[in-house]
Amino acid sequence: MFSISRFCLLWQICSATVTLPHSAKHQAAAAHAIVRDVAIIGGGATGTYAAIRLQEDFNKSVVVIEKERDLGGHTNTYHDPISKTTVELGVVAFHDLPVVTKFFARFDIPLVKFFFNYTLKNVNFRNGHPVGELESHKSTLGMFADYSEQLQRFKSLEEGYVFPASVPEDLVRPFEHFARIHNLTALIPRIWTIDQGVGDLLQLPTLYVLKSFGPEMLRSLSSGFWTTKRRNNHELYERAFQRLKTTNSVHVNSVVESMNRDIPGRYGKMVVSTPFGRKVVRAKQFLFTIPPTLETLTGFDLDRYEKNLFSAFQYMDYSTGLIRGAPIPRGTTMCNKIPDPHVYFLPRLPTVYTLGPTHQPSFLTDVKFGSNTSSMTEQQVRERIISDSSRALPGNPDLELVAYASHKPYELRVSSDLIRDGFYQELNGLQGLRRSYWTGAAWHAHDSGLLWNFTEGILSRMQRDWS
Ligand SMILES: Cc1cc2nc3c(=O)[nH]c(=O)nc-3n(C[C@H](O)[C@H](O)[C@H](O)COP(=O)(O)OP(=O)(O)OC[C@H]3O[C@@H](n4cnc5c(N)ncnc54)[C@H](O)[C@@H]3O)c2cc1C
Repeated sequence: MFSISRFCLLWQICSATVTLPHSAKHQAAAAHAIVRDVAIIGGGATGTYAAIRLQEDFNKSVVVIEKERDLGGHTNTYHDPISKTTVELGVVAFHDLPVVTKFFARFDIPLVKFFFNYTLKNVNFRNGHPVGELESHKSTLGMFADYSEQLQRFKSLEEGYVFPASVPEDLVRPFEHFARIHNLTALIPRIWTIDQGVGDLLQLPTLYVLKSFGPEMLRSLSSGFWTTKRRNNHELYERAFQRLKTTNSVHVNSVVESMNRDIPGRYGKMVVSTPFGRKVVRAKQFLFTIPPTLETLTGFDLDRYEKNLFSAFQYMDYSTGLIRGAPIPRGTTMCNKIPDPHVYFLPRLPTVYTLGPTHQPSFLTDVKFGSNTSSMTEQQVRERIISDSSRALPGNPDLELVAYASHKPYELRVSSDLIRDGFYQELNGLQGLRRSYWTGAAWHAHDSGLLWNFTEGILSRMQRDWS
């Protein structure tokens, strides 16, 4: 059977025995350059979508460079060896949008309707004591009508980070302030529970709450989402990978070592380190889909302008996992709250947000964890997940974190001052410069369906530049 690790080993042996000087290695790689219309950096939700659309519908040659061992980004499907079923610990559900149903249909993956029908049980995770009464998810829906009216004031946000240059003050004020002005404070604990991973909800510029908890989310909460019938969202990316592999259009476990997008002529260039050796890629256009932080863009040829913008991003450390040995009542989500109405019952980060049921509640419990700082190591996050969960579920001493995924860097954001000073107008101005186009959550919202629609707009923009 084809095995990447065997190829890696072979490559290591070859490169150990035949030691070429650095420049000779470069020349050898350049002689076998991968020449493509579009080089796509990152093979998550948007990178995979763009690759398939460009290759299959626009008849363009592509190459996807993905640093992990498979495509899919935040879509993590766990194969449980005990229950022999699959459980999602990343992306769960999708909006009922044509772009979603068409993309799944392309790979013959059936969808079924999915509703978040659960009962919220607010618990102080420091001691396991209940906070307030049981709340039904359904009872919260009516509260969103007023919030929906506010969303209508900012329709252009559905297109991306699009708003007037003289930024409306409501977009930049801290969300708590916005909620007080518009009588929406009762929603704060609810939004915190549903819209996890955004950070300090009370202080966050309202723009980010309206972006991540937008009109499509409200619609889907009442009329339902789609999810995969076979309970395996990752299948989408496995099938896409197979199609891209047959045309040699995808490199996983690969990173960009260097890049030059400004070479005169038709092609820019990058050097990529892959398990099969160093490759030179020549491409007419570059589509960036990775979170644009200085760390993820190490080795890239950022100019002063790009560097200046990307260095402003702050982000969240958002992690998810599956715990064995933490039975919670079927249909109940335990939500971490503290008995302090002055802070709307919200605990301080870092902490566990929720312990929720999976469709295998007697086997596995879903856990979500958030931290505002990126200074916690993975080991510290894992330990904190277990200690918080143990206190929330006293009497269950043998909790085991059987699956874990870090989604850092998550929810890229900048300060209110920068938003006021035109940060997003400048960021959007990067599209099309230096043979480069940009998509992904930092450019719109953390939402697969909305991002596929947004990516459609970027593909149209790229198409205009083909002529
Ligand atoms: C826990 C969780 C649950 C979610 N649930 C849902 C949900 O139910 N429904 C929904 O619609 N959305 C959901 N989202 C949001 C949604 O999945 C994301 O917004 C979406 O995946 C973002 O797509 P993207 O292409 O921008 O980034 P990603 O999917 O993160 O893709 C970026 C890719 O780039 C790769 N990469 C990073 N740096 C480099 C580099 N230097 N070189 C090469 N590759 C690199 C990464 O490995 C990754 O594969 C969820 C997100 C999380 C974290």
